[in-house]
Amino acid sequence: MIPDDFKQTLLARVDIVEVVERHLRLKKAGANFVACCPFHNEKTPSFSVSPSKQFYHCFGCGAHGNAIGFLMEFSGMGYVEAIKELAGGAGLTVPNDRSESHGRPQEPGADLGDVLLRAAQYYKDELKRSERAIAYLKRRGLTGEIAARFQIGYAPDGWQNLESVFPDYRAKALTEAGLVIDNDSGKRYDRFRDRIMFPIVNPRGAVIGFGGRVLDAGEPKYLNSPETPLFEKGRELYGLFQARGALREAGRLLVVEGYMDVVALAQSGVGYAVATLGTATTPTHVQKLLRQTDELVFCFDGDDAGRRAAWRALENSLAQLTDAKRAGFLFLPQGEDPDTYVRAHGKAAFEALIAEAVPLSTFLINELTARADPRTEEGRARLLHLAKPLIEQIGAPALGLMLRRRLAEIGGIGLAELDELFGVKRVKTSRLVGMAQRAAVLTSSEVLLRAVMFKPDYAAAIDRSILDPSDLATPALTGLLDLIEASPNLDARTVAAVALEQFRDTVNAARVNAAATRTLWDESFDVTAEFEGCIGQLRQRYRQRRMDELRQKPSLSAEEQGEYRQLLSQRPGAKMPNSEPVSSV
Ligand SMILES: [Zn+2]
Repeated sequence: MIPDDFKQTLLARVDIVEVVERHLRLKKAGANFVACCPFHNEKTPSFSVSPSKQFYHCFGCGAHGNAIGFLMEFSGMGYVEAIKELAGGAGLTVPNDRSESHGRPQEPGADLGDVLLRAAQYYKDELKRSERAIAYLKRRGLTGEIAARFQIGYAPDGWQNLESVFPDYRAKALTEAGLVIDNDSGKRYDRFRDRIMFPIVNPRGAVIGFGGRVLDAGEPKYLNSPETPLFEKGRELYGLFQARGALREAGRLLVVEGYMDVVALAQSGVGYAVATLGTATTPTHVQKLLRQTDELVFCFDGDDAGRRAAWRALENSLAQLTDAKRAGFLFLPQGEDPDTYVRAHGKAAFEALIAEAVPLSTFLINELTARADPRTEEGRARLLHLAKPLIEQIGAPALGLMLRRRLAEIGGIGLAELDELFGVKRVKTSRLVGMAQRAAVLTSSEVLLRAVMFKPDYAAAIDRSILDPSDLATPALTGLLDLIEASPNLDARTVAAVALEQFRDTVNAARVNAAATRTLWDESFDVTAEFEGCIGQLRQRYRQRRMDELRQKPSLSAEEQGEYRQLLSQRPGAKMPNSEPVSSV
């Protein structure tokens, strides 16, 4: 674990403009720098980097983050690797990193990359030598061309074959790369034996890990590299690098479950498939994929396990979707997987299935009505109860509205009633902030979040008891207040970058991003006026809330009576109360 205060120091020390400039040509545009976005295809620049907020944001695809995030996204580095790279450039040493703190200093990223590349080459060469492995791939309908495109290889049977590639078979880099395993008695052996090898590559095409599949009936059927500084399962997708061309042409990406599916689909001309690596689809996966395409189709088996996996994918997509993007679910006939289906029926038949994919909204409603019977009052109540946390995650305003409308219909209540039940105050603004949305209405916590990003000093002036507990942005705001309280050195330049780091991969990160983005590019935001206006309103609302609360009580202590009088007197133009019978409602 890298300590948080080190990350803060690091983010204060580096300059995101310099970091980005190493990879992209930036052009000055007002206070910021712009470039054509490296994360989506575009001709006019919508990728903006802010030196004053140490933050980048693409108005086209929504990519955003701090310097650490940029390196991870752009170079496909792992989290730790990105931090090390930045630290190295800033002359800082990453503390408390147990694996590195003893022994000679080294650059694990560079080392591991080289080790993995050599292993991949070895496996490729071994494939040419193995009649059995070649016969297996031929039986699965693969040509040499596709095998070469995916750099497919073969790890021969035997315990220490890699010794022939790495004379220093005891080197630490081999364990770090996940290629070998040390058993309890200290004996080292190859992780992958008698398996077809599928190299996993990052967006630059560099090998970061492997998936291995048995040829026959062995167990486990699929074996992946363990997590390493280069490879995090929850972030990586098999086949994304190879899918680039095809996805642009097709305008969509297909998410399947195994590498054989990806390869078989590519063999049949469906080149836009990717696979998760032995994990469920994560929000990071979805975010990464939606950056590349507007249409995402999840493909699962039609059995119970497939439907459960699809539901997880749905849950993890809700917060990532915008109204410009869509997701669908394709369930294959029982007993089929994409590999068998496309080989038996061909590309056209498979694409016909894709065209029939169930839209996310339909899948969501179907599943909910299957879980809670809408024919009874109790069932409808339960259905709404199940729907609430899902609806709360949706950031796309129009999609959210449609679904709420549909749920209100099913629940037999009005939309206004449903919104009240769900605590929806108003149409939520999208996380993708375009110029047209600058005038969008912000909640009070969103206004404060922005103000504190401008001036962290304001944090101390916020009385937390007046915050609106039903405002969805309040947890992000209080999180940021905690952070600022705990880190007195945070300044306006790094506060957004540090907050994003602190909240990485949480819902709060999305809120902070939205606030930071608006803060950056909205020059009309009058921070002092907005802050004071908002605090004033919150005080009034708090006053009302608290007075209602006190009025509900059967009797008030002397202290509470004093508080009530105090609150009452705060109303502009209010008469000083005498001994009003506050306890009688
Ligand atoms: Zn972009």
